[in-house]
Amino acid sequence: MRVLLVEDEKKMASFIIRGLKEEGYAVDAALDGEQGWEYVSSNEYDLAILDWMLPKISGLDLCRKIREAGIQVGILILTARDAVEDRIKGLDSGADDYLTKPFSFDELLARLRALTRRPRSFQEERELSSGDLAIDLMTRKVIVGAEEVTLSQKEFSLLEFLLRRKGEVVSRTEIAEHVWDIHFDPMSNTIDVFINFLRKKIDGTRKKSRIETVRGSGYRLIEE
Ligand code: CA
Repeated sequence: MRVLLVEDEKKMASFIIRGLKEEGYAVDAALDGEQGWEYVSSNEYDLAILDWMLPKISGLDLCRKIREAGIQVGILILTARDAVEDRIKGLDSGADDYLTKPFSFDELLARLRALTRRPRSFQEERELSSGDLAIDLMTRKVIVGAEEVTLSQKEFSLLEFLLRRKGEVVSRTEIAEHVWDIHFDPMSNTIDVFINFLRKKIDGTRKKSRIETVRGSGYRLIEE
């Protein structure tokens, strides 16, 4: 899952970035509404977290702009206000949810998971599986056969993305857009390296990998 965070308070921003990265999200951060617009209009995000009070373009106006442009992204607005009227304004602007500061990080994660569950770019459940491979999105446990397998955060995110699109060919560009952040170097072989890490961990003794290489196109997680 790739997230755009637009937050001008540096401390708050680094708290959120650090937390989300620990959970395996790819995060790009913008410090004002204008930069936020540049990012969201030129990259593909699954989720956007917008602070309400932002320099240049407010979080609310940015949200409207995103909706007017028809950009498909789940939007969570952060606000220090909690008046009912403000909440209505926030949701009217096209936001999917809003969260009042201060909030606990667990609360933020729960809201983001709920946003991902909506059928926007993906259908989501708590568990994703294919055959005897299953991952739990809450506990981040990975089960292969009867065994639990330990994955790094990045490996987990990559596997989650492939499972959401199981049976489909996904290009390296799509993988990069949803699993890595803006600093990803498209010329590097990082994705192939991670696919190989993942294969070693989830294929066990299988002769044919669960993840097929589709020449010239990308990868496909076999649907079982
Ligand atoms: Ca602010």
